[in-house]
Amino acid sequence: MNKTKLSRREALGVMAAGAMAALNAQAAEATKRFVTCGVVLYPWDLTLKDWPERAAKAGITTIGLHAARRLDVLVDFVKSDDGQKFLRDCQRLGVQVEYEVHALGTLLSRELYYQDLTLFRMDEKGQRNIDFGCCASSSRALEIIAEKAVEYGRVLNPTTGRYFYWPDDGYQGCFCEKCKGLNWSDQTLLIENAMVEALRKHLDPKATLSHISYGMTLEPPKSVKPQEGVFVEFAPISRVYDRSIAERDVVLGNHPLEPKSHEGYLEILDANLEVFGRETAQVLEYWLDVSRFSGWKRPAKILPWSDEVIKADGDAYAKRGIRHVTSFATWIDADYVQRFGAPPLAQYVAGLQG
Ligand SMILES: [Zn+2]
Repeated sequence: MNKTKLSRREALGVMAAGAMAALNAQAAEATKRFVTCGVVLYPWDLTLKDWPERAAKAGITTIGLHAARRLDVLVDFVKSDDGQKFLRDCQRLGVQVEYEVHALGTLLSRELYYQDLTLFRMDEKGQRNIDFGCCASSSRALEIIAEKAVEYGRVLNPTTGRYFYWPDDGYQGCFCEKCKGLNWSDQTLLIENAMVEALRKHLDPKATLSHISYGMTLEPPKSVKPQEGVFVEFAPISRVYDRSIAERDVVLGNHPLEPKSHEGYLEILDANLEVFGRETAQVLEYWLDVSRFSGWKRPAKILPWSDEVIKADGDAYAKRGIRHVTSFATWIDADYVQRFGAPPLAQYVAGLQG
């Protein structure tokens, strides 16, 4: 037999087997309930050096890096040796990387107040105020924010094309004549529409951008329509974790901004899904959030865990057609693992994927 022909046949066989394996992997992926099954971490949590390996082994698809106030810390991290190694490890292991940040305070420098007051929000007293966000009716403010979103996106470049530039934590909207008829989800959506358009034009034609349903922007927008590429990200921070969110009658504490029951959260989620669609929607949960369970005070406490709750929560989100779910896993760092042992990452994925 001709050796060359055999080699070619063998090569074809290998290619066919490879193609089949890829198809099988795709089919296995398609049968999973959630395309994204992620965690969100501070860069400081990566004192646990093998986070990417632990994530990959558990079946976690995505690590989102988080900053509470400033984008700069993430830029510094990804440019550092540790950050570069983290990105290489994630790439090698097939773990996606995203960046989820309270960003508006960075995207529109507060210094610009001295150049143009009207970029910033008018507060209830009629004063221009640099505390949060911007005037959503200032086309110049939106232009600056969109330019900066592209600039930061060149460095903080998500491997999924999914961008997360949130309003500042505790966000307040604008009360100027043009903005005051808009609710605060309408106002943030005006900003997000400008950002997604710029990201698609200058960085990635398929870029998508989060509209976070959380705190002051829990309610869906009423007047402004999302541009193509804006998806809803639902973050029910005041729910309880010893009962499933599917248990509608669970009564919650008296947080002024948050719903009074799980039912309230589910109504808000469903109303947002009607506006933004289901396939692209993302849930940002707190199942693995050691910082939250520790009351955001060190020393960290051990994470409470319930296989039943995660399974029932997964059911509740999957049956709504949601395909992207992620959880804060902040403060699961080297210190945590040393004190409490391995976190329940495999249980998290198994519970969610059902
Ligand atoms: Zn305004």
